[in-house]
Amino acid sequence: MSESVIVYPGFFDPITLGHTNIVKRATGAFDRVVIALSKDSSKDPLFTFEERHALIDSIYATNRQVSVETFEGLLVHYLEKKSYRTVLRGLRTVSDFEYEFQMALANKTMNAEIETFFMMTDSKYSFISSTLIKEIARLGGSVREMVPGMVCESLERKFA
Ligand code: ADP
Repeated sequence: MSESVIVYPGFFDPITLGHTNIVKRATGAFDRVVIALSKDSSKDPLFTFEERHALIDSIYATNRQVSVETFEGLLVHYLEKKSYRTVLRGLRTVSDFEYEFQMALANKTMNAEIETFFMMTDSKYSFISSTLIKEIARLGGSVREMVPGMVCESLERKFA
């Protein structure tokens, strides 16, 4: 049987414990999880593409089930180029659902072979978003319980 691969795309500015929890749980259901870091240049990130990439890389450096790739432009084009068919997205709120539902249907319309799997957030992390974390860190609050240690240190350096 061929190995099962699921692609977890996102902007990860920065990666949070909400994201890493989704990845960890997905490794229990799939042989391999590919974190696909978006290069989308229309957004104005706090962390550069290289910084976001380096953070994710070091978090998963020793995890052979998780790899990190990057893509630019449409997710569907990247999936087609790499012959991936399965996408993972996390859900926190009803507003997440509306957006994700729309994206999944749009992707399926562009390529009927692509399937999107949704994983419900762990209730512990349901309030966590990259945006909220940046705001708390900017105002000098502690995000130690919300992001991996390395991300916490990078945030502290950014706002020192
Ligand atoms: P994007 O800009 O593509 O939405 P994000 O990096 O914000 O990228 O998020 C990537 C995915 O992770 C999305 O499916 C998002 O809903 C999910 N996600 C983000 N935060 C959490 C969380 N705390 N719990 C579960 N899923 C999350």
